[in-house]
Amino acid sequence: MRDDTTVARPTPIATHLSAAIRRSAARPPNPLLDLAGQLADVIRLSRGDPDLPTPAHIVAAGKRALDEGYTHYTPVNGLPELCQAIAEKLAHQNGVEFDPDREILVTTGAQEAVFLTMAALLDPGDEILVPDPHYTSYDLAAEAVGGRVVPVPTSIGDAYVVRPEEIERRITPRTKALAVISPHNPTGTVYPLETLQQLAAIAERHDLIVIADEIYELLTFGENRHVSFAALSGMKERTITINGFSKAYAMTGWRVGYIAAPTDFIAAIGALRHTLTICAPAFAQKAAVAALTGPQDCVRDLVRIYAERQQFFIKGLRAIGLDAFEPRATFYVWVDLRATGLRSSEFCERLLREARVLIYPGSQFGQAGEGFARASLTVPVERLAEAIDRMAEAKVIRQLHQEAMS
Ligand code: PLP
Repeated sequence: MRDDTTVARPTPIATHLSAAIRRSAARPPNPLLDLAGQLADVIRLSRGDPDLPTPAHIVAAGKRALDEGYTHYTPVNGLPELCQAIAEKLAHQNGVEFDPDREILVTTGAQEAVFLTMAALLDPGDEILVPDPHYTSYDLAAEAVGGRVVPVPTSIGDAYVVRPEEIERRITPRTKALAVISPHNPTGTVYPLETLQQLAAIAERHDLIVIADEIYELLTFGENRHVSFAALSGMKERTITINGFSKAYAMTGWRVGYIAAPTDFIAAIGALRHTLTICAPAFAQKAAVAALTGPQDCVRDLVRIYAERQQFFIKGLRAIGLDAFEPRATFYVWVDLRATGLRSSEFCERLLREARVLIYPGSQFGQAGEGFARASLTVPVERLAEAIDRMAEAKVIRQLHQEAMS
């Protein structure tokens, strides 16, 4: 007979977990994902993975590579021809010279690069400064090795560009590094050159390493131009540049990223990298070569589509009484919920229940994200129109109008 009073006992495995894993497991999972799974026909504007296909010539190169036998390990640092193509791209597009044999490491997505970098820099108790709101994989990676992310608040009033003095105020003897994620997830801001130069001066003054996560570099709009941190005067030797193919070439599922950094750093992380994944998938590396060496109008097409989607969505939000930060890059829209007076988690839950539209609460991106939410524009304009229509009918939005009228 089943004993309903039995409380599930943790397995011996669960009681042997490391402190770091316990800490990360103790973080509450996103309850909205469970809820979304129970509802029908949810419009998911949630993950950073748009619907657009990988351009055909890149897919063809990946298929060809499979036929040609690229089904084995590659060198730990990556296929030499990919390292070469990355070095040429960095020289021509970003204005920084890297030695393809010694200063480039191809990773299994930029995500592995983030983890490797944290593991390589942080001793237990060490800190890394990260402008907030932020991409929280940095926190989990830092915590896994006993380090800690110190969030540096930014605000919509400053267009989410970090204030150098706020960075400087938080530097302690344990601060090892500063993360510069520009263009930025989740807000879509781009740091102006002047700010980058001020951050470079701080890095030099306080002997900090700069982790420049440039994964959204090609998805900028209008006048906004991305400048690589390593290209700033004197910065190459203290910058670890992280980049990848997921966003610019719609290649999230191929899992190819890279680190460009001075040779002593690349050499130092080789063994750990080998331990993690040995190498990125060989055929995907060949596809990445095609992405870099093939026609680039596919990137311009993506940017045009994302810009159209953003303009459409922001206009729709404004028509129903919400506002948003005008993104300078990416495919995200950072929705301003302050007019609702609700916490972002409550707003997003109600929106999901009442409109079947899933966006992520800003609080999920750190304390400075409260009062906002991230919509990832991963669906065509017609579906975004449907999302706005549904939102307009949701009680949580209609209340806004009633309040405005009363
Ligand atoms: N860095 C940032 C800022 C991101 O937003 C993401 C993914 O969303 C990554 C790194 C990881 O990207 P990849 O798909 O290359 O692992």
